[in-house]
Amino acid sequence: MKNKGHCEDLLASLSDYVDGTLDGQLCEALEQHLQSCHNCTVVVNTLRRTVELYQQEEPDAMPEAVHQRLLHRLQLDDFLHEG
Ligand SMILES: [Zn+2]
Repeated sequence: MKNKGHCEDLLASLSDYVDGTLDGQLCEALEQHLQSCHNCTVVVNTLRRTVELYQQEEPDAMPEAVHQRLLHRLQLDDFLHEG
């Protein structure tokens, strides 16, 4: 069953989730969703890996602008509207 509205809601919080700053309840909802949604799991894994790679090169901090650019580069919108 496709539930893209739900996916988009959760993915909007992904940046915070990967940072570990997401509200506990949302965090739980996201993790529950991930267990049943392969698409979102792929997005989370990709985002995590991208952030980790970036932090290895720039260990001090990730400026918010860069963070946003990373999210854009992952083209979450395109991803969500596939198939
Ligand atoms: Zn999903």
